[in-house]
Amino acid sequence: MTIESFTPIVNENSGTVVMGGTFDPIHHGHLRSAVDILDFFRFKSLRMVPCFQPVHKDQPSVTPEQRLQMVELGIQADIRLEVDPREILREGPSYTKDTLQELRNELGEEEPIIMVVGMDSFLSLPTWAEWQSLLDVAHILVISRPGWEPDFISTLEEFYEKHRAQNVAELQCAPAGKIWMESFTPLAISSSQVRKLCRENASIAYLVPETIQRFIEAHSLYK
Ligand code: ATP
Repeated sequence: MTIESFTPIVNENSGTVVMGGTFDPIHHGHLRSAVDILDFFRFKSLRMVPCFQPVHKDQPSVTPEQRLQMVELGIQADIRLEVDPREILREGPSYTKDTLQELRNELGEEEPIIMVVGMDSFLSLPTWAEWQSLLDVAHILVISRPGWEPDFISTLEEFYEKHRAQNVAELQCAPAGKIWMESFTPLAISSSQVRKLCRENASIAYLVPETIQRFIEAHSLYK
């Protein structure tokens, strides 16, 4: 049985939304957040960008191609979700600054680019390469994540206060430069939890789409 993709009929806002990640594996926390963002902002699409080599995490045990395949399987239920394989094709350490700059070069100077990060990722932003310059090329949309509070260190607090948007429409009025925080469906799911359950031979049902569950089982991943 195949799942029919959800196709909305709405007025769409301009802007390119990107959600980077290791997606090791993709889970319902990623997917529901992506759908919430699309419904809230009325963007046409959201691109998931699986990294080749994470800069801040250990190298995954599954191949980049398998993680990419799982993202492709995971996004099938909503036609607005897309996968962008550029970091996997580029190889090497997957620096967000490079990905955003490539997108800016392709999309032109006017297009709003919105980079989505969970609260945990935003808290680690000061450790990212050229992190303050990311706002030169994109906006940052920070989404809440259960277990992570906005307890910013002082440099991040200053950065946030300096660049926070006064209202959400500012993300569409300029191509880059603003930060917005939003809370969506709180789902305390993580890829580490999914991997741990697999190692323990426990069920991962309802944490990931069935297609991902089947893929993981078929390829004996995360054992
Ligand atoms: P791991 O457990 O291996 O660290 P993860 O679950 O955090 O992985 P990533 O692929 O690293 O998954 O996450 C990609 C992006 O999605 C990050 O910005 C992260 O903050 C965000 N994210 C992941 N899970 C959730 C969730 N349940 N709710 C909101 N945001 C999430």
